[in-house]
Amino acid sequence: MKYKRILLKLSGESLQGEQSFGIDANRLRQYATEIKKAVQEGIQVAIVIGGGNIFRGSVGESLGIDRVQGDYMGMLATVINSMALQSTLEDMGVYTRLMSGIKMEQVCEPFIKRRAIRHLEKGRVVIFGAGLGSPYFTTDSAASLRAIEIEADVVLKGTRVDGVYSADPERDESAERFSNISFEEVYKRGLNVMDMTAFTLCKENELPIIVFDMNKAGNLVKIVRGESVGTLITMN
Ligand code: UDP
Repeated sequence: MKYKRILLKLSGESLQGEQSFGIDANRLRQYATEIKKAVQEGIQVAIVIGGGNIFRGSVGESLGIDRVQGDYMGMLATVINSMALQSTLEDMGVYTRLMSGIKMEQVCEPFIKRRAIRHLEKGRVVIFGAGLGSPYFTTDSAASLRAIEIEADVVLKGTRVDGVYSADPERDESAERFSNISFEEVYKRGLNVMDMTAFTLCKENELPIIVFDMNKAGNLVKIVRGESVGTLITMN
């Protein structure tokens, strides 16, 4: 197996499927099925889910809600998504633990690095909710930092496009997909992989990122088996 421990980042928006808000039941089961297959390969899986399908701090601002308050609301939204995924995985017979960046003892454990690693070693899927527990960050930053803390081999950013392109493939027909690209090249070309804080955190800690299409069945398993799927971002 190419990777022993992965951190999978899923956006909240992707959970809404064809809907314009909330959680799509089919999409949730689809993702849980893919995750279960990866677990069955014997690799350790940690997950960070966004909250954009429910609330974003920036949306709060447009409603006149204070930025910090809105960011906490966004973090709570990620806990809702995390609980939904946890429940679906458990229903499929996958053992899980939910750890939160904001203390919420009735629903999840607080994030403690050593405990997270212990859960992973026991074969439990660990979901990190509430981002980093701090405003002005994103769940991409949470994914990068948690991945570094738990010593993951790679961050897998599951999106609805199949990798990093030279331009926006939904707008520019001549856009080409990279199968490999360096961190430097991403900076130079001004490509949008993750927000800059999250991206730089990965670079400074030499943690590779793979951007791939999570909506295509089988992709996650292919990646953990070492097949080239999506775009791999590395130091050189
Ligand atoms: N958020 C935050 N700190 C964090 C993680 C998330 O303040 O560490 C807030 C922020 O307001 C963000 C919202 O939670 O807009 C939802 O997360 P994100 O936008 O990253 O979700 P995604 O776009 O992946 O669905």
